[in-house]
Amino acid sequence: MAKSQHVGGAGERSALVVGGGIGGLAAGLALARSGWRVKVLERAAAFGEVGAGLSLWPNGVRALDALGVGDQVREQALVETRAGIRNRSGRWLSRTDTQELADRFGPVVMIHRARLFDILRTALPAGVLCGDSAVTRADLRGGRVEVEHGRGVSRADLLVAADGIGSTVRHSLWPQAPAPRYAGYTTWRVVVDTGERLSAGGESWGRGERVGIAPLADGRTYLFCVANAPEGQRSPGGELAELRRRFGRWHDPIPRLLAAADEEAVMRHDIHALPPLASFVNGRAALLGDAAHAMTPNLGQGANQALEDAVTLAVLLEAHPDVESALSAYDRLRRPRTRLIARRSHRIGVVAQWHWAPATALRDLTLRMMPGPAVLDALTAILGWRPPDREDLIAHTG
Ligand code: FAD
Repeated sequence: MAKSQHVGGAGERSALVVGGGIGGLAAGLALARSGWRVKVLERAAAFGEVGAGLSLWPNGVRALDALGVGDQVREQALVETRAGIRNRSGRWLSRTDTQELADRFGPVVMIHRARLFDILRTALPAGVLCGDSAVTRADLRGGRVEVEHGRGVSRADLLVAADGIGSTVRHSLWPQAPAPRYAGYTTWRVVVDTGERLSAGGESWGRGERVGIAPLADGRTYLFCVANAPEGQRSPGGELAELRRRFGRWHDPIPRLLAAADEEAVMRHDIHALPPLASFVNGRAALLGDAAHAMTPNLGQGANQALEDAVTLAVLLEAHPDVESALSAYDRLRRPRTRLIARRSHRIGVVAQWHWAPATALRDLTLRMMPGPAVLDALTAILGWRPPDREDLIAHTG
């Protein structure tokens, strides 16, 4: 028989977070810091992240500051890197003034996912993380939430579903939610150690293909490649051979990076996005991160938005007198913002993946003519985000 557990003691507010990815760990940390008794239920027996890089933008770094770990992340910042968009021959089409970006919004941090994961996990109080706890069902019962998982049944006052794009909790509690859709392109990611620290990063755009280069603070380089492809396809001769075939004649250092890459380290994933949901909230349950708004990675904002979600949720729960009103405020704040960013990211992906030569020629010309400050201005709404002010909210919610 399944073991039944209550999270939290008398008088304590209790929360269950499903999923121990970046969003779930951030939510667990944010809630624990606000005095909630939390359990993060993760299906994997061991906690870890994939071997790839991750861009943390100033908005995400501010969310990490609110979680008390911003300084550890900022140590990984590389502000001197040149960035922008090049063509496949290496000609700059658009340059991002990284110093100006850092001065206006704060530093951009390229971090190894495993490093961010360790920072968040180490900051969590002992006993919060529960591995080997795959959630199979979630229910709302009499003003509480109940989930069934690998170790039994748990109940709490609040349920945060951070179980990713294929969320089991979303299937249980949002049965009408649309299914994720394939974006039309696939990605390969690999971290390469060439023994050389690169001074320029950014993306290089071709026709239906793209490469991204991001130097990491530890001297390694994160390389990501994107190509239009049918869904579910795999390369019969191996993924690294496929990358060398597609990108081996692009500008330096792409062929060198591919020559130094290890086949075992190459990860390939088709890109899916979740169509907009009618609500992120149902009773005392809230969707967070990719479970709520999985977006294409063209703006590098998916994990940043999960961090914003986590911080916002905890502040609203502190400021509002009850869980229900806090969650409806969370839905009001987070759904329009993440929808806007997902839509922008989708549009960038469409243009970046154009294949027709006249269209890509016009695109490249337009990029060359676009003034640098206009690019930064366009990012203000995303990068300028700050956590909601608790005192302000309390004043406004009475
Ligand atoms: P996930 O990372 O999917 O975590 C979900 C967790 O829930 C997992 O640990 C999973 O094991 C667990 N889980 C699932 N089901 C259950 C269950 N039933 N019970 C218990 N546990 C369960 N974002 C950025 O901000 N910057 C970038 O540079 C960036 N680059 C990207 C590049 C690519 C190619 C891709 C595909 C995405 C990229 N993203 C980027 C997006 C980012 O990876 C995601 O938005 C982010 O990882 C979402 O975190 P999450 O915690 O919401 O979900």
